[in-house]
Amino acid sequence: MAAGAALAGCLAAFALIVGAGESTTAREQSQAAGTAAAPTPSYSIVGIRYATLKGFPLNALVMGAPEGHTIDISMSVWLIRGGGHVVLFDSGFHRRKWLEQFKFDEYMSPDAAVQLAAVEPGDVTDVIISHAHWDHMGGIDLFPKATIWIQKGEFEYYSSEAWQPGGKHGGIDPDDILELVTRNTRGMVRLIDGDDEEILPGIRVFTGARHTFASQYIRAAGEPVYVLASDNCYTYQNLREHKPGATFSPSDAGGNVAAQWRMIELAGDADRVVPGHDPAVYERFPTKGRVAKIR
Ligand SMILES: [Zn+2]
Repeated sequence: MAAGAALAGCLAAFALIVGAGESTTAREQSQAAGTAAAPTPSYSIVGIRYATLKGFPLNALVMGAPEGHTIDISMSVWLIRGGGHVVLFDSGFHRRKWLEQFKFDEYMSPDAAVQLAAVEPGDVTDVIISHAHWDHMGGIDLFPKATIWIQKGEFEYYSSEAWQPGGKHGGIDPDDILELVTRNTRGMVRLIDGDDEEILPGIRVFTGARHTFASQYIRAAGEPVYVLASDNCYTYQNLREHKPGATFSPSDAGGNVAAQWRMIELAGDADRVVPGHDPAVYERFPTKGRVAKIR
C-alpha cells in the first residue's frame, strides 16, 4: 500500500556519518556473530491484522483491474518465532497523521497487536522491514530493543537522495526516516546488501521487484517453507493472474511479475506465498480474532 494511494511524503547526507561497518554485508555480520552456521529453528509464523482499510481501489493493487472495484484490505504485521528469535516482518504504523488521513477500521497499534500473539513489544529481537512506506516502517519505534533489518539501498536512498530535487519519496514519512537513522547511530540497524541473503538462520531476504527504491521479501525455511511478500505481491489475485501491483516505476511492472513467479518457486507452491494486503489470508489460514496461524 501507499504508493498506489499516491501519498505525498531533510536529512543531512547520511553517507558522511556512516561508520566503517557499512561495507560489511548482512551475511558477513551474521557469520561474524555465528548465526549463519546455526541450525534452522522450527519457526512459527503468524499474521496479525492490526487494521482494515475498506473500499481500497482494486486497480491500485492489481494493474488492469476494472475501474470502480474495491477491496477491504488487511493491514498486517507478521511474527516469526523460533530459536530465541522473535522476528517481526514489517512494523505497521501508529502516527496520528496517517490515522487522520485514512479512515481505518478496527485500528490497533502494532505494539498492542503483537500482544494478541503473546509477545511483549520489548521482547521483539528483530524487525525486518520490507520497504520504507509509512504503513510498513512506521512502527519501528514501538519495538525499542529490536535490531532493524533493511536493504542498504532503501536506507541510503530514503535518507538522502529521495529528498533532493527529482527524488521520489511518496509514502515515506520523514519521521520514520529520522527514527531509522537514530536507531542506526545506536548500532541497532543492519543493512542488507542485495538479493538472496540469509540474515537469520533459515530466513532469507530477496529483492528484484521495486515497489520502493529497494524493497525486499522473505522466505522462512521450515516444514513447509513460506514466502511473505509484503507489498511485492499485494493480493492473491496478483499471484493468480500474474498481474503487477503499483511499483516504484511503471517500467518495473515486468520486474514485479517476475518477482511473483520467483516467490512461487522459492515457496515451492503458490499457496505458500502470503500476499501483503489480502484479507483472504485471514480466511485461508486458521484465524482467531486478528491472528492467523500460517505455520
Ligand atoms: Zn508499500
